[in-house]
Amino acid sequence: MRGFCDTWISDISPMELKVLQENTTKSMKCVVRWNGQYGYEVKEEHTSKHIVNLNMLICTCRAWMLKGIPCAHVVAAIHFKKLEPVNYIAYWYHRETYMKTYSHFLQPVKNMEMWPQSQNPSVIPPEVRLMPGRPKKVRMKEPTEKQNRKAFQKRYPDDLQQLLC
Ligand SMILES: [Zn+2]
Repeated sequence: MRGFCDTWISDISPMELKVLQENTTKSMKCVVRWNGQYGYEVKEEHTSKHIVNLNMLICTCRAWMLKGIPCAHVVAAIHFKKLEPVNYIAYWYHRETYMKTYSHFLQPVKNMEMWPQSQNPSVIPPEVRLMPGRPKKVRMKEPTEKQNRKAFQKRYPDDLQQLLC
């Protein structure tokens, strides 16, 4: 898994860069209105309108908070401010975080027969306790199971049995 990191062309995971690229393409259809401070009102083409706050890292479509990748609205706001959207990708997609995740290796384990014997009492299942009420004597059969011959004979007279069989 650590070797996969060597194939990256930048410090950010390639899958996330692809998502950012798609969002950048979508952002070209957005119209941005800036309130002069932190707030941006971003209107997507003929659809919804969202509020972006770059200081609080919030977009009302919530995709940015959930995925950690700037959505189309945020990308439009970032471009409006002449900044780089790649810098707004969450740290958990960075190479450094990836390498930290896989920095601990699984160590080899001895054969089970070589494990030390425990001196504690072994765990046994609990005793079976009779529940209140009369126990069922006849279980419910599945429809695919063969029907009981005696019950079949009681229910139908001989003439009808010949007809059915
Ligand atoms: Zn958004």
